[in-house]
Amino acid sequence: MDNLTPEQRRYTMFQVKSSNTKPEMFVRSLLHRLGYRFRLHRDDLPGKPDIVLPKYKSVIFVHGCFWHRHENCKHATMPKSNVEYWEKKFARNVARDKWAKAELELQGWRVVVVWECELREVESLVDRLERTLRDAVSMSEPFAYRKVAETMAPYGSKKSKNDDDSESKTLS
Ligand SMILES: [Zn+2]
Repeated sequence: MDNLTPEQRRYTMFQVKSSNTKPEMFVRSLLHRLGYRFRLHRDDLPGKPDIVLPKYKSVIFVHGCFWHRHENCKHATMPKSNVEYWEKKFARNVARDKWAKAELELQGWRVVVVWECELREVESLVDRLERTLRDAVSMSEPFAYRKVAETMAPYGSKKSKNDDDSESKTLS
C-alpha cells in the first residue's frame, strides 16, 4: 500500500475524512449534538470568532495547528524553505489571535480555542468544552437570575399561555 506509519496514516485518514467537513463544521456539529445553540462568524466581534454562544458569553475559535502555531504540537512544523517569510507570517497570525483574545475578554467574552489536532480526541474535547462552558454560565449566573426575575410573571398570574407552559415544565 504505502509506507506510512500507523500514526501518519491515522492523521492522513483524518484529513481525508475532514476535507469535506472543515474543522469548524466538525465543532459546530459536535456542539449541536450536545444541545448548544450558537451563532456563526459575528463580524462585529474582534477576530471574527468561528462560533459564538451568546447564552454562555463564550466564543470559540477553531484553529489549524500549522497556521496558528499550536505550541508543542507536532503539526506546527516549520517549512524548510523561505523560513523568514513563514516566520513573519506566523508571527502575524499569532499576534492577531492574541489581540482578538484580549479584546474579546475586555468585552466580557470567554475565549475558547479548539485546536485542529484535538478533533481526533472527541471525548476529551467534549469534556473540555462542557467544563469550560459550564464555568462560563455559573460565572454569569447573577445576570441570568436577574433576567429570569425580570421576565417571569409572578406565580398565579395568568399572563400568557407560554408562561404557563414554562412553569409546568419547571415543576415537572
Ligand atoms: Zn495541535
